[in-house]
This record gives sequence, structure tokens and C-alpha cells, in this order.
Amino acid sequence: MLNAKGATAKVTPHIHAATKDGHTAEESTTIPGPLTMLSRALRWLAQGVELVPIQYRTKHFVSGFGPNREHITDEESARYWWGERSCNLGVVCGSGLVCLDFDDSAMFESWLRRGGRALAKDTLIEQTTRGYHVWFFTDAPIASGPDELCEIKARGAVIMSAPSIAPSGWVYSVANDTLPLRVDANQFFSLLSNPQTIESLSAGRVRSAVPSVVQIIKGGATVDCVKREFAIYDMARDVLRAQGFELQSSDDVGRYFIGRCPFHDDSNPSFFIDAELGFWRCRVASCAGARGGDVINLYGLAHGLSNVEALRELARELR
Ligand SMILES: [Zn+2]
Repeated sequence: MLNAKGATAKVTPHIHAATKDGHTAEESTTIPGPLTMLSRALRWLAQGVELVPIQYRTKHFVSGFGPNREHITDEESARYWWGERSCNLGVVCGSGLVCLDFDDSAMFESWLRRGGRALAKDTLIEQTTRGYHVWFFTDAPIASGPDELCEIKARGAVIMSAPSIAPSGWVYSVANDTLPLRVDANQFFSLLSNPQTIESLSAGRVRSAVPSVVQIIKGGATVDCVKREFAIYDMARDVLRAQGFELQSSDDVGRYFIGRCPFHDDSNPSFFIDAELGFWRCRVASCAGARGGDVINLYGLAHGLSNVEALRELARELR
């Protein structure tokens, strides 16, 4: 089990009861020290997780930040928001990070009884005002939504994380202090319904191949690189083919192409690319593709990713 440097591992009776032989409470509390907002923030960043500052003792995002707005991705900003300023700590879900949000402890205990105990001792669990947050990394394409016992928080969700302070004054605590377990995509739904069937997982995210968003954004080179390496023609052809459509040339020089739009129910060829400028758009004003853009947001729109996520995936393919 990994412990955060300088963080206190607080083991609640629930989790302690959930631990199995050979794993004692003493082992989970070996590293004393302050559980500071900053140390937790840096730990999330080190896992490639993006953060959002939330106003102190509230659940309101600091202006300009939010699930679909600005995120914190670098240590310097984290030191400002969680070191100098007193903010609550928001963790951005999605991009492989999923939180099972158990609204009350009865639901959480049902999950433990159903077979979650073995997992509970090995993954990050936080205690909230009334319930628990159980964290996992997974490559499964998970959408946010309700499940039988918990709410699944994935893309588009920001979760308030320990040691944030609720409006009531309750301090979110770490109930099991380790990194989120990594769960294979094909095992994720067993995690909810049949957790005892999951075995031999490892904690933490494999990050070697994933450039951080900071690297991507600070090194504008990566954006240029992606645009240079992924031709809009190839990308558009693949996106259209996935829907059974084909691009057709609309001039004699191989610059302009059209096809049926993959983003709305299109009977005309409304989808258009300029292969020379690396630009695409859909001619139908009500279509999600009406504004068009470049190879990055085409990939993002086609795969349900934000531009940053699309950029990260494409940059990874270049490595
Ligand atoms: Zn369209």
C-alpha cells in the first residue's frame, strides 16, 4: 500500500473492518503528518489528474474554473490555490478517472458486503459528509450516471476531495490512503455488480506514455506537431468511414472534399474539408460540427472527448 508523503492515513472503523488478514490498521497509518490540501493536490497532479479550486467551505467553483472550464494542471498553480489561498479541492473525473459516489454509508456497506471488501483495502476511499467516494482508474469508456448503489462520476464531473471542508464544517477525510486502483476496461462493470470477481489489480496510473496536459499546452509545439502529423484528410476519411460514408473530391486539385456529415442525420454531403488549410466544418447550422475546426477537435467530436483530451490522445499516438 502506498501512502502519501506527509499525509495521515486515517482508517475508519468501516474500512478497518474491511481489511483482510495480513493488513492491519498500523500498516495504514505508518506515515504521520498533516493531511494538507496542497499535499493532496500535488498527489493528484502526480497521477495526471486535473484539479479545480472550489471556494472555501462551499461547493462553488472559483470563477472561471469548472468541469468544462479551466483546470489546474501544474504544480505552481496548485501551490497558489491550495498553498497560499484556502480553497476546497475539486478533482476532475473522466480521462480514465472514475469515482463511485456512495451517498450514504448503508449503500457503501452493501457494496462491501457484495464483495467490495477485497477492493476497498487497496484503493483510495474518501469519507464525505454522509457517504464515501471510492476511486478507480480505468480505460473503460464510462459515462457519469446512477448505478444501483452509487452514482458513477466520470467525464464532466468534478468531485470534492479530502481534506475539503463542507459548508457544514465537516472535513472530508481519507478513509483508505492509497492510489486509485487500476481496473481493466472489461472488468469495470463487475466492479459494481460483482466486485469479488476482480483480482490482482495494481494501484496508480501508468503514465509513461501519456504526456501531461501541461507539457502539451506549454509546449505549443505539441499542438503543431499533432496538426502536422495528422492530416485532416485522413482523419476526416476515417471519421466518415466509421459511419459508412466516404469523402469525395469536390475540385480538380485535391484540396476540397465533401461527404455526409457524421455529426447529424445528413442526406446531403454537408461535411466539408479544406485539406490544404487543415480545416473542416459542417454546412448545417444546427449541427454540432457547424463551427468546424481542425484535426484535433474533429477527433474530439468524433470520440466524445474535450479538445485537451483529444490532443492528449493524438499526442500519445505520435510517441
Ligand atoms: Zn453536420
